[in-house]
Amino acid sequence: MKQEDKDILRKYLPEEAVDQVSDDIVRYKIAFRISRARSTKLGDYRAATQGVAHRISVNHNLNPYSFLITFVHELAHLIVFERYGRRVMPHGPEWKQTYNLLMQPYFEKEIFPDDLKKVLIRSVQHAKATDGSDVELTRVLKSYNTLQTDPNEVELTQIADGSYFKIADGRVFQKLHVQRKRFKCACLASKRLYLFSPIAGVKSVSAEEMNNFLNFINLNKTRR
Ligand SMILES: [Zn+2]
Repeated sequence: MKQEDKDILRKYLPEEAVDQVSDDIVRYKIAFRISRARSTKLGDYRAATQGVAHRISVNHNLNPYSFLITFVHELAHLIVFERYGRRVMPHGPEWKQTYNLLMQPYFEKEIFPDDLKKVLIRSVQHAKATDGSDVELTRVLKSYNTLQTDPNEVELTQIADGSYFKIADGRVFQKLHVQRKRFKCACLASKRLYLFSPIAGVKSVSAEEMNNFLNFINLNKTRR
């Protein structure tokens, strides 16, 4: 890998992981892309097809640990695909075993801080994956984000059932109840139901804001 490409990786990864990751990118001939922030996923893998290389992308706004874990997660998909094609489940036993193996050198190099290492090892062994479904891991990873999080933002678990909250795009929801470790919430404008992660970052809505919002909705209803 060219030195300048390696220097780009250095901005996103823990220093001790740069060589290994760049070696993997070269070895598996990966078209690697550092992507814009996507709210639906941290990274993705697309299998090689005729004439097109394996593609892996990782969101640019992840902290270095998250960036590395996401890369390894996607690399495990690549290796499993090369070995088994589409005959196995995306996060099945073959993937879990591969992911576990790929993480070992990073554990040996003591790259991760103790608290993160502890939950990460547990997560790798039980391999609930790093797709955001592992709440404990996501929470510890989040604590290493250097970007200042909004002081008004709270986790969805912290607000009471039945109360209102809004998300980054301005939509207002009502928190209903837990359903299989997720929270069922109703979007007031569209009246649709959504499932939220318990650690989704949300802002609570004051009574005054709520009144304005309901007036706005009613106004638009009568106009139609
Ligand atoms: Zn995956």
